[in-house]
Amino acid sequence: MPNVLLLGGTTEASALARLLADRGVRATLSYAGRTEKPRAQPIPVRVGGFGGADGLARFLRDAQVTHLVDATHPFAATMSANAVAAARAADVPLIALTRPAWTPVAGDRWTHVPDIPGAVAALAGRPQRILLALGRMHVEAFAAAPQHHYVLRFVDAAAVPPALPDHHLIVERGPFTPEGDRTLLATHGIERVVCKNAGGTGAEAKLVAARALGIPVLMIDRPALPARVEVTDPHAVLAWLDHAAPSAKRGV
Ligand code: NAP
Repeated sequence: MPNVLLLGGTTEASALARLLADRGVRATLSYAGRTEKPRAQPIPVRVGGFGGADGLARFLRDAQVTHLVDATHPFAATMSANAVAAARAADVPLIALTRPAWTPVAGDRWTHVPDIPGAVAALAGRPQRILLALGRMHVEAFAAAPQHHYVLRFVDAAAVPPALPDHHLIVERGPFTPEGDRTLLATHGIERVVCKNAGGTGAEAKLVAARALGIPVLMIDRPALPARVEVTDPHAVLAWLDHAAPSAKRGV
């Protein structure tokens, strides 16, 4: 009988949690604990870090996890690297449920940068009205480009106001629509969008809206991750569960 640990914090993880619950598969969803009110889930939830790759390996052994599913965000690079190392150390099969990266289409005006410091550096120059679509994390780095008016969109209200001298904070949870994001960009007179190449449909709305309005996008490319088995459809994880042999060492 499988005992799945699902590393979550994404729409894909929630979709898989639903499928696992419907199938009656024993599974636990793990959140980092960044969001104050995470979505209610149909399977048991645990919250908080494991203490690095060693801590996760220990958790896998102690909780007798038979299958590890990494459905974290494509930018959660530390967690994903830890998952690869811990799965190897604990001899537990691992699969990643992820989303294909976005690619530009006709009409897109993208500039690529490799990371957050690259994005901050690219914002040197005249003051602009910027949609900083990064969620809560990494916003502080943009204090190094304080000349801009930043529009921010967070899932939760910020306990401490973002340290950007000129900003407007919107508290809203996705998925968003192209029509809604077009109104957002127009209403706030946005001249540039800064975002991570997260992939997925809900967060894509801002790109569709920027394309329609001819607004340039500063696209932060994905971090490199260790090699691993990846799928993009939660149903493919179910198929994998049916076939991936749990560790022979534990005899389960
Ligand atoms: P990260 O930098 O890769 O992870 C930092 C540390 O947070 C990890 O080493 C781990 O702590 C802990 N952690 C991360 N995900 C966890 C999980 N699902 N369960 C338990 N502990 C977890 O990750 P991040 O970018 O801060 O993302 C944190 C969470 O937010 C993830 O669940 C991710 O899916 C979600 N998220 C991230 C983004 C993004 O843009 N980065 C966007 C949307 C959602 P220990 O080392 O102590 O185990």
